[in-house]
Amino acid sequence: MTNLVNHVAETVQEHGDNPAIGFRGEETSYEEFWGQTGAFAAALEERGIGEEDRIALYLPNVPPFVIAFHGTLRSGGVVVPMNPQYKSREIGHLLADSEAKVVVALADLVPFVEEVRDDTSVEHVVSVGGEAEGAIPFEEFLVRGAPDIVERDDDDVAVQPYTSGTTGQPKGVQLTHRNLESNTSMANELIPDGIRPEDKQLGVLPLFHIYGMTVVMNATLFSGGTYYAVPQWDAQEAVSIIEEQELTLMHGVPAMYNDVINQPGADEFDLSSLRLCGVGGSGIPVEVLRQFEALYDVQLYEGYGLTETSPITHFNSPIEGRRVGSVGKTVPGVDSRVVDENFEEVDPVEEGPIDEENTDLTDITGEIVVSGPNVMKGYYGLPEANEEAFTEADGKTWFHTGDLGYYDEDGFFYVVDREKHMIVTGGYNVYPREVEELLFEHEAVADAAVVGIPDERRGETVKAYIVPTPDSDVSPDEIREYCLTNLAEYKHPREVDFVEELPRTTTGKVQKFKLREQDEDVEAEA
Ligand code: AMP
Repeated sequence: MTNLVNHVAETVQEHGDNPAIGFRGEETSYEEFWGQTGAFAAALEERGIGEEDRIALYLPNVPPFVIAFHGTLRSGGVVVPMNPQYKSREIGHLLADSEAKVVVALADLVPFVEEVRDDTSVEHVVSVGGEAEGAIPFEEFLVRGAPDIVERDDDDVAVQPYTSGTTGQPKGVQLTHRNLESNTSMANELIPDGIRPEDKQLGVLPLFHIYGMTVVMNATLFSGGTYYAVPQWDAQEAVSIIEEQELTLMHGVPAMYNDVINQPGADEFDLSSLRLCGVGGSGIPVEVLRQFEALYDVQLYEGYGLTETSPITHFNSPIEGRRVGSVGKTVPGVDSRVVDENFEEVDPVEEGPIDEENTDLTDITGEIVVSGPNVMKGYYGLPEANEEAFTEADGKTWFHTGDLGYYDEDGFFYVVDREKHMIVTGGYNVYPREVEELLFEHEAVADAAVVGIPDERRGETVKAYIVPTPDSDVSPDEIREYCLTNLAEYKHPREVDFVEELPRTTTGKVQKFKLREQDEDVEAEA
């Protein structure tokens, strides 16, 4: 019996006076932070909410996220993080599926909760940063108290973020106390001396996503360092914060590093306080990595993982050495393989990276599968999805990442492509199916397919191919506007093309690779 929060309680004992959270120039010490998590846990207890109950956090990176997250775990509850860019349509499913009893939301977002509240089990809405109709302000919700930590089994669920493949609605990923504890501890061990109590980490990766949650927030709070919360990405602002606060650690998605080096006056930024940077979420172009390192004299280490693996499975460790272009070696305690469709291991190449233009990747590439204490318990209430996600072999349970890759004799892994069609744009995942479903609801749309196309700044960007209904005079801009009002901004198609028909297989599947090829052809001609 344990609870992830026990680990944080130990940090509080050891580093009580250290700042745990920094935000807009203000600091909250570990003692104060622990007092506030106690008050949040007491507030839940007083309202009869406890073990196994789900608390949804609909917040950007602000201190109440950190407090409510740890307060929930302290009370034995389960955190359901939700993207604050979601609108009612998107959160409606998450709230209903998870049966969340409490939602802690930014005041401006409360109306989205109210819109769908009747179809959910939500009993209390708590507003952060102001008042909102139907909600109790965060400060008033808190109750003086410091309840004991509710002990949980290692296999009990602690957090349930949502993610989805190419089909259907987003799935709840059940991550247990063991999953998170093991991966957070490991994130700490992957860098020399671990995160130090004097370290200050930039907290700009979204907390609703596992990368920001584990590798940034929790790894920092496990070590006595300071988590410096930044609600949204703005390259100039991030640079100023690093300079002014003398931050020592940064994690980001590739698009963030690319943004920094492309700012006006980028060669004058003083990022010398940074002792180490990490990158993941999608592959970072080697050129971007090299430029960032050259400009700021700091090393940038790439890692790889998924929500389902809490997340880190591979990392280019400063301790073990690295290979640029690779996602690194499998991290300690985790096992990974590259397998073919018969689950036979694919042989390693002599030394990577392989020049993709001159080598046929087919023979050396397979699906990356992983096994370890960080692998999720399973998708929530979806036995069929779980059936597909796991394979038992050699006494281990292997999780199918859905990513294609290869590895070399030194154990470095290379991710080639996603098997699924998920689009990663500026670090955010977009699932084409979801956008397509919305497009089909538009009266002027006869047929539609959404794909990711290469984009210098965002890695990929969303493009919609639409077959309009015969008499419609709808414009691409109207389609974009329509998507913008119904979906988070990053999901809307920045490009909309009208076509006469979509290429399909005989079984009716849209051949998305053909659509993507068209874009590549256009690029080549330009
Ligand atoms: P998520 O569940 O949001 O963390 O997304 C996981 C997916 O992000 C993986 O299945 C990969 O497709 C992709 N990904 C994460 N890190 C990398 C990386 N370093 N290189 C390439 N793809 C990555």
